[in-house]
Amino acid sequence: MNGPIYNGNVPSEQSKHIILAENLTKVYAAGRIEVAAVRRVSLAVEPGEFVAIVGPSGSGKSTLFYMLGGLTRATEGRLVIDGVDFAALNDAERTRLRKHRIGFVFQRFNLLPTLSAMGNIEIAYEISGRASGPNGAPMDPAYLDHLSEMLSIKGRLHHRPSELSGGEQQRVAIARALITQPAIVLADEPTGNLDTKNSDAVLQMLLRSNRELKQTTLMITHNPEAAAIAGRILHMRDGEIVKEETGNGAKPAPVNGALPGDRD
Ligand code: ADP
Repeated sequence: MNGPIYNGNVPSEQSKHIILAENLTKVYAAGRIEVAAVRRVSLAVEPGEFVAIVGPSGSGKSTLFYMLGGLTRATEGRLVIDGVDFAALNDAERTRLRKHRIGFVFQRFNLLPTLSAMGNIEIAYEISGRASGPNGAPMDPAYLDHLSEMLSIKGRLHHRPSELSGGEQQRVAIARALITQPAIVLADEPTGNLDTKNSDAVLQMLLRSNRELKQTTLMITHNPEAAAIAGRILHMRDGEIVKEETGNGAKPAPVNGALPGDRD
């Protein structure tokens, strides 16, 4: 399974960044009209950071997200994920890098409806390739236990998605993303389908995984309140990053370990 350029563990290029994007541009051709959805965006995400990209509808967030996640190719620019230059990879290698090193969380949860929560988490682990190959290891039940405790889904693991609330489904989706211990979690409007209470809970879970597991996280959102939870907030408009600011997540965690907004 291991390819010559990317073997799943050893970066081909030394880098301290988890994401390094230089002048990323994406131009869509809509008939005879070309739309530059993302224009020369450069950004770096360091290990352990929680970065939010916020902007109004149409500002290019989704397009940037798809490029950063290796789901679509940039028209121009350079993208290095966890030390691996995307341009150097063929399609199969890119897919392998994505499965192995990136945890995705989507607005619509994207859980498989016929599997239980546990089944969804297990299959993500299998697909990531971590269970196979010479260095493969089965999913660690103690780690799953830790995640389900942290995400408050312990009693829900044997339920199918249709038996779970939206907030629970998203927490299962976060567990599914975290189980492979990815280099980065990319979250696309993770609270977009949730009410305020469940949104708050999901944001707290993302923050907790960032703080407790040192999980590098990048979230896109149109909601400035959601973005505020991150350590660093990048504002997008018309395909460009126009402003950067420090978020509440940059503040140290309270001494008792509670997170802002924690309730009992
Ligand atoms: P956001 O996620 O911030 O709402 P998008 O990345 O979806 O922004 O869109 C940015 C711009 O690119 C918009 O003008 C949108 O209409 C355009 N766009 C997005 N996807 C496509 C596509 N597949 N073909 C043509 N234009 C697109």
